[in-house]
Amino acid sequence: MSTEPARASTCLFCRIVTGELPADVVLSTETVVAFRDVAPQAPTHVLVVPREHHENAAELAAASPEVAAELVTVAAAVADGDGLDGHYRLVYNTGTGVGQSVFHAHLHVLGGRPMGWPPG
Ligand code: AMP
Repeated sequence: MSTEPARASTCLFCRIVTGELPADVVLSTETVVAFRDVAPQAPTHVLVVPREHHENAAELAAASPEVAAELVTVAAAVADGDGLDGHYRLVYNTGTGVGQSVFHAHLHVLGGRPMGWPPG
């Protein structure tokens, strides 16, 4: 689903993208914005979101594959900027069953501490 004014007024991350709500923005481009998670689960925990509204990663990739790729490129730049030296985890939660709580596609960039596998 593409961004619509009505949607933008109700979606938390749309409101961050427009600047209506404050966020600790670390990087932004014409198509994506990266900001620090308000409840960090690791020393680096940044969310990279498309400016366009899409409910999840698959919908974003289907509608705008170039923007989906840009999210990964920006995530790598964020990891570099935080000095993670090539060691970080990228996560998309899709669906409430695995913990998606905000229905605007977002890529978690996590790093700065040891992480186990499989994830919990
Ligand atoms: P998910 O559970 O995968 O949908 O991730 C949503 C993430 O958004 C969680 O890690 C939240 O801590 C984070 N979050 C919620 N509200 C905000 C906010 N206003 N600013 C930054 N991060 C937020």
